[in-house]
Amino acid sequence: MKLLLKRGRVVDPANGKDGMFDVLIDGDRIAEVGKDLTADGARVVNVPAGAVVCPGFIDMHVHLREPGQEHKETVATGVASAVTGGFTAVACMPNTKPVNDNAGVTQLILQKAREAGLARVYPIGAVSRGQKGEELADIAELRDAGCVAVTDDGLPVATAILARRALEYTSMFNMPMIEHCEDQSLKGDGVAHEGPVAASLGLRGIPGVAEAITAGRDILLAEMTGGHVHIAHMSAWTTIEADRQGKSRGVRVTCEVCPHHFTLTDDLLAAPIAYDTNTKMNPPLREARDRDAMIQGIVDGTVDVISTDHAPHHYDEKNVEFDRAPFGIVGLETAVSITLDALVRPGLISLSRMVELMSINPAKILHVPGGTLAPGALADITILAPELPVTIDKTKLVSKSKNTPYHGWSFTGGVAGTIVGGKIVYANPAAGFQA
Ligand SMILES: [Zn+2]
Repeated sequence: MKLLLKRGRVVDPANGKDGMFDVLIDGDRIAEVGKDLTADGARVVNVPAGAVVCPGFIDMHVHLREPGQEHKETVATGVASAVTGGFTAVACMPNTKPVNDNAGVTQLILQKAREAGLARVYPIGAVSRGQKGEELADIAELRDAGCVAVTDDGLPVATAILARRALEYTSMFNMPMIEHCEDQSLKGDGVAHEGPVAASLGLRGIPGVAEAITAGRDILLAEMTGGHVHIAHMSAWTTIEADRQGKSRGVRVTCEVCPHHFTLTDDLLAAPIAYDTNTKMNPPLREARDRDAMIQGIVDGTVDVISTDHAPHHYDEKNVEFDRAPFGIVGLETAVSITLDALVRPGLISLSRMVELMSINPAKILHVPGGTLAPGALADITILAPELPVTIDKTKLVSKSKNTPYHGWSFTGGVAGTIVGGKIVYANPAAGFQA
């Protein structure tokens, strides 16, 4: 079975390509990228005018909620949301119920993913048993079962000694340890960024340095052990600084930023809707200085990855007082539009850099396939529609949960189609792309 994508702008920085090409897919692999390709028996699909053909996007920070919280999301609804948002693969966090700290849970997730098809799913195992922060999980068992990294996300790795051991073990297996950076004593029972907005709303604060302190700890431990630490969802300017310093010393540290942290600030907690629980996430929305530092880090190369921290919660769980609502927002179906509109459109980054941030680097960090349209590579492809007007409507999200602060926002740029293993798994008629 051959598929020929005709006349798209191919942006494939791993192979130095940016121009009008055809892409020939044979089975689940890329066969050829070139001019005026023909192939006997191939199904020909025209790429819409203005659309951009890229290696498939990989979201390395997603909560699929299964097993245990299927009322928020399942593997099946999560991957459907992923391909609608242009992601061909997702890596899912271990804070399920039970926690993914053993081969049984990992295999269950992979089984559900096989049944669902659509996007590839890479489970991430827990650093500690039950994410209790006491003893190390069996990292070799998790790796053998198919985990691509470990983290206690939702929580930081509880102690420096546990982080040290996790970095020592993961470096033997060539996996990263992903850190949710947050000093628990400074976070306390905080619910919002510590600053004037939280003070005026009477909300308990979480200072930015709560994040940077844990990032600093882990960067020093990565330097000492030779392990690879990946700093998740950065929100504070001080964290970017810690990361920049670590990189300048040659430490194996990589890092990610989510779209909400490079577009929004804590002003959104006060207006237009005060105490909207869809503005409550962890780490919290911070100040302009922090948001601007995220953009700067993306522009200057300090930031390696844009991930979403897709964190679905049911309406009833979010429809309570701000203090009591769970942290988190959905992100899979908004990330591409936000990134195109906020970063690419104003010329802050190029499309090539976007592909680096959302495809090449997550593949490299997790040691998974992707990031390239080279002949022989898996035919995982994201087709962007940079000029498509998109208005976010939470009622139309494919995710089981609708907790987004972007409801009603308009962006220029969206997804035209998503191809996984040579199959068109999402086609957006609004972008003129036909399955
Ligand atoms: Zn987290």
